[in-house]
Amino acid sequence: MNFEDFELIYNQKRCQIEDKEDIKKKLGNIVSAGNVSDKEIDLLAYTNDSSLITLNWMIEGKIAGKPDFIVWPENVDQVSRILKLANKEKIPIIPFAEGSGVVGGSIPIYGGIILDLKKFNRVVEINDKNLTVTVEAGINGMNLERILNSKGFTGGHVPQSIYTSSVGGWIAHRAAGQFSTKYGKIEDIVLGMEVVLPQGEIIHFKTIARASTGPQLDKLFIGGEGTLGIVTKATLKIWPFPQKRALISYAFPKIEDSLEACRLILREMVFPAVIRIYDVAETNRHFEQEGKAKDKVMTIFVCEGKSDLVDLEEKITRKTCEEHSGIDCGVKPVEHWFETRFNVKETSMFPPYKIVADTIEIAIMWEKAAEVYHAVLEATSKIMGNLLISAHVSHFYSNGVGYYFTFGGVPPKGTSEFEFYQQCWNTTVKTVLDIGGSFGHHHGVGISRSHWMEREWGTVGLDKMKKIKNILDPNNILNPGKIYLNTWKIKEGEQ
Ligand SMILES: Cc1cc2nc3c(=O)[nH]c(=O)nc-3n(C[C@H](O)[C@H](O)[C@H](O)COP(=O)(O)OP(=O)(O)OC[C@H]3O[C@@H](n4cnc5c(N)ncnc54)[C@H](O)[C@@H]3O)c2cc1C
Repeated sequence: MNFEDFELIYNQKRCQIEDKEDIKKKLGNIVSAGNVSDKEIDLLAYTNDSSLITLNWMIEGKIAGKPDFIVWPENVDQVSRILKLANKEKIPIIPFAEGSGVVGGSIPIYGGIILDLKKFNRVVEINDKNLTVTVEAGINGMNLERILNSKGFTGGHVPQSIYTSSVGGWIAHRAAGQFSTKYGKIEDIVLGMEVVLPQGEIIHFKTIARASTGPQLDKLFIGGEGTLGIVTKATLKIWPFPQKRALISYAFPKIEDSLEACRLILREMVFPAVIRIYDVAETNRHFEQEGKAKDKVMTIFVCEGKSDLVDLEEKITRKTCEEHSGIDCGVKPVEHWFETRFNVKETSMFPPYKIVADTIEIAIMWEKAAEVYHAVLEATSKIMGNLLISAHVSHFYSNGVGYYFTFGGVPPKGTSEFEFYQQCWNTTVKTVLDIGGSFGHHHGVGISRSHWMEREWGTVGLDKMKKIKNILDPNNILNPGKIYLNTWKIKEGEQ
């Protein structure tokens, strides 16, 4: 196997490392020789993340980006020293946790050093009184949840990728889990952090329930996607494991009926841990065994916590659904959801058949919640070659919702699969922005959506954010090319 056999997709101006052996030796001096690699087989393992298009490419012998080295540091001091070295030598550093990101965030588009955080995998402390857990940021999500469960707690953060993602990755991409309506998203859960800044300084954000001590600098790193700092430790909220779970499902005639019922449930300040609305296409696909739901909109709820409170939440949820033409489908659809909720074979089955597919999650306020659904379906179904577009509503707030669209198709003659893929993405993003939504609910920006950031944040917002990046990272070594489209500086002074 040789890299020359592969076509490199993100073939940007690569960083030039004049003396690779010297850099390898210096990295080895920091982390020990066994924790640095430039073997082709290792480099190949870090050429992509979990964006589905990279799977299409891989099957065709194409790779997304090629790193020069992989390092596996074991403590914060080593991370700091690696960043200092990278600054001196002007080499990009790409933080990498479990690679489950789906927007190209950890793809080494300019080459450089992949800094893998998998050895940051320890639980430092579980504090029963404060209801917190302190962990090293590379810890695997499911390992953490299992440890918490064994001690009578839950972390409340259960992304579909929990088996293949880390706390640091959640923080970097502002992740949201399936139980987030009750427990919150990662930004609600993080209470303290240790972060290594691009020039190697270490910053400790103390663990505190809340503070009114000026602007909160720590918030910059939640969603920073490894461009502003590397999170090495975090303290998160935890909760006592729920005493009771109520499983509820209703099928509604139209998505509008279901959205309205959910909006009113939240307006009553009832926050089921899980709410999910599946449009007709996804209901027929995922709940075919439930006859009452055929050609309807399946909606599932999980209320959990103290028994008395759960009973009351269940009562209000049922009453509201029934007032909005909901047909009770019992516990079976929710049990089915529990059994299949980590199953992602559907979309990953497409690439071997040369079908280009992906999922896009967006956010919208309640006022436009139904409109955005119909608009995205209408706009994307006009794309030549698109065979499938469907959605479920996966995240809920008193003020709005997060949608999850799935598309799949075959590029028409004369259109490359990447062009087709970008057309589907861009059509969805533009439609959502035109209606006033946000193009990213919980997957982050990465490469896939960086060219839309000026519309998302506005010209002034993006400009100021770039300046902040430049202050923290004047050599632009930390995950260049992500979020703000800042290109790698080939020569001193080049932007
Ligand atoms: C099948 C599937 C289901 C998914 N379901 C969900 C879901 O339900 N909810 C959800 O929110 N997301 C979901 N995702 C997306 C993905 O799992 C999340 O974005 C996750 O947070 C990425 O974590 P990771 O540890 O794999 O990070 P990686 O993919 O390794 O990295 C992601 C980004 O974070 C940076 N990074 C990683 N670690 C650090 C660190 N310690 N400090 C600074 N930067 C860092 C990387 O440079 C990169 O930019 C899903 C993905 C897949 C493939």
